[in-house]
Amino acid sequence: MFVDSHCHLDRLDPGTHGGDLAAALDAARARDVRQFLAIAVTLDDLPALAELARTHDDLVISAGIHPLHSVAEEPSVVAIMEAAERVGAVAIGECGLDYHYLDKSPERVPSREVQRERFRRQLMAATELELPVIIHTRDARDDTLALIREHTDPAVGGVLHCFTEDLDMAREAVRHGFYISLSGIVTFRNAESLRELARRLPLDRLLIETDSPYLAPVPHRGKPNEPAWVVEVAECIAGERGISVAEVAAQTTANFYRLFRAAAPEAPADVREALRSAGLV
Ligand SMILES: [Zn+2]
Ligand SMILES: [Zn+2]
Repeated sequence: MFVDSHCHLDRLDPGTHGGDLAAALDAARARDVRQFLAIAVTLDDLPALAELARTHDDLVISAGIHPLHSVAEEPSVVAIMEAAERVGAVAIGECGLDYHYLDKSPERVPSREVQRERFRRQLMAATELELPVIIHTRDARDDTLALIREHTDPAVGGVLHCFTEDLDMAREAVRHGFYISLSGIVTFRNAESLRELARRLPLDRLLIETDSPYLAPVPHRGKPNEPAWVVEVAECIAGERGISVAEVAAQTTANFYRLFRAAAPEAPADVREALRSAGLV
């Protein structure tokens, strides 16, 4: 089975299965994608996400605030913790630092200082709750690593999602107990450095995701992305490493449940058994 470890299911594109989430999830399940982690970008999303989790056995959620999102008031550490607990989030995020747009349109995105403080609060909430963090990082290598080192517990860890930075940064995060998640970007023609990373990072540290509805993989580029296409990400990694897609599926699924421990009890029973007998969990 495959896991889509990062998708924005409350933001399904109207062009995807006519905007019908049930149809999009069924299309994914038909390709053996059997677990979805739906990601919050603001605490305001949580009621809708909690409803999705309540009504779908194969769907778990995170709670957090994206670095580029504008909010009226920055939530405190306690407010983040309470929000996450209230909805049964299995992780804090997505949170992080994104300096990419700061030079081009500084008036439209939160400043470095705002981003850092928001990120710090979420890391502290996660450590307090012993929940893993889902980190969005772009053009902010040093600050991201510094805050991870200062505020996260390697025994709990987290993931650098939709990773597009270099191998050195990935390795540094792995040394601190983190996983690296690859999205459809790894299939893009100009993404040779990411494919190198897919070959060289230990397989037991990789996750796969779609980041739907963004970043559809080859051969679906340009369309709104959907969870079914996490399989293309797994196929790309398998091709790069010269191993079977089944092996990538099994290992990334085991990695997912190892990191997101709160989701593990809800893993399908046959999958739990298979992972256990393969010694993967
Ligand atoms: Zn992101
Ligand atoms: Zn995302």
